Amino acid sequence: MPVTNFPESPDIESATHWFYSSLLPQSHKHAQQMLDVEIRFDLTGIKAGLAHLDKQLIRINPQLFDFPDNCFYALSDTIIHELAHIMCYALYGRVKPHGKEWKKCALLLGGSCEVRHSLALTKARKTRAFSYHMPDGSIIQLSSLRHKRLQYGKVKYHVRATGKRIQAHYYNGHNELT
Ligand SMILES: [Zn+2]
Repeated sequence: MPVTNFPESPDIESATHWFYSSLLPQSHKHAQQMLDVEIRFDLTGIKAGLAHLDKQLIRINPQLFDFPDNCFYALSDTIIHELAHIMCYALYGRVKPHGKEWKKCALLLGGSCEVRHSLALTKARKTRAFSYHMPDGSIIQLSSLRHKRLQYGKVKYHVRATGKRIQAHYYNGHNELT
């Protein structure tokens, strides 16, 4: 099961570890037929995940990593949800999207069978702004992903207007935007 476009963030290593050590063995009887499924973390918008049945492709919204407490639960439930669509299609062909065949597959894979309303993603997500105080007195706000990348030294950010580099130690706390 190739996993591509994994978003860069400090949670990624533990997520990858968790993914291979917990999720796969849990569903290992059925993992065999899932090995051709590709997972990409490139879905944008308010949907948590999307399964392309004929392409054996699952696309996951990387915003799930921003879930405050239940990131792994949300991630595994979404992946299992979408895997169940692929499995259901492989076993039964085109049937009702969240019908009894799909439920059977989701249960076999260890999923919750909850059908997430797409808006749940925006509701559950807490948007944070991370403030950086520049030496000239201005305050720059970074998103959670950019903040993490900067703190882990993965990238260098500059203020567009002044060209000044935002240093990691300029960080001065965050606030919730929800
Ligand atoms: Zn679905």
